[in-house]
Amino acid sequence: MTRAGLTGGIGSGKSTVSALLVSYGAVLIDADRIAREVVEPGTPGLAAVVAEFGTGVLLPDGSLDRPGLGSIVFADPDRLAALNAIVHPLVRDLSSRQEAAAGPGSVVVHDVPLLAENALAPLYDAVVVVDAAPSTQLDRLVRLRGMTQEEARARMAAQATREQRLAIADFVIDNDGPLEALEPQVRKVWDELRSR
Ligand code: ADP
Repeated sequence: MTRAGLTGGIGSGKSTVSALLVSYGAVLIDADRIAREVVEPGTPGLAAVVAEFGTGVLLPDGSLDRPGLGSIVFADPDRLAALNAIVHPLVRDLSSRQEAAAGPGSVVVHDVPLLAENALAPLYDAVVVVDAAPSTQLDRLVRLRGMTQEEARARMAAQATREQRLAIADFVIDNDGPLEALEPQVRKVWDELRSR
């Protein structure tokens, strides 16, 4: 099994890259998706979040108010650390179980938005970074994701810098150009991962 960590700043095109890798045969383990699953209603994860942040982070139906919680933690590094201390161990546990279910010859790609921020590079055989200029990220977030300039800038500012991500990369996928330029680069990385 080859275990790759895939990361990139918000709007870099990481999800686009992970979808391509899956189309080539990668087994995708999506940290964001797992992070949602571990705080679904009825989970010990959600109970721990409520114990830390109060019932104000719940919607009337008892599910987590993710935008509400997001506005708290993205404005305060200490609160973000408190949330991470709850969610990260649960995410690690569920990811290992999903990984164990993949076949021995598979290429497992862990999609981890905050891989650089949380110094997780040593966990993987190879780190793949999707790279785009901050101006490109901003443009995509505003034009394609409907964020305001301020929202987009705040989300980007809460993440590692482009340089910090590039420093941990074994493979860099340049996604500043058009989609046609992306596919052959992803194919090349896939070939390398598969031949490891
Ligand atoms: P991320 O997962 O890194 O936040 P996405 O893969 O969702 O980013 O990409 C953000 C947006 O930009 C999406 O709407 C996606 O379709 C678009 N996109 C990604 N790569 C390109 C590209 N090379 N050219 C134009 N649009 C792109």
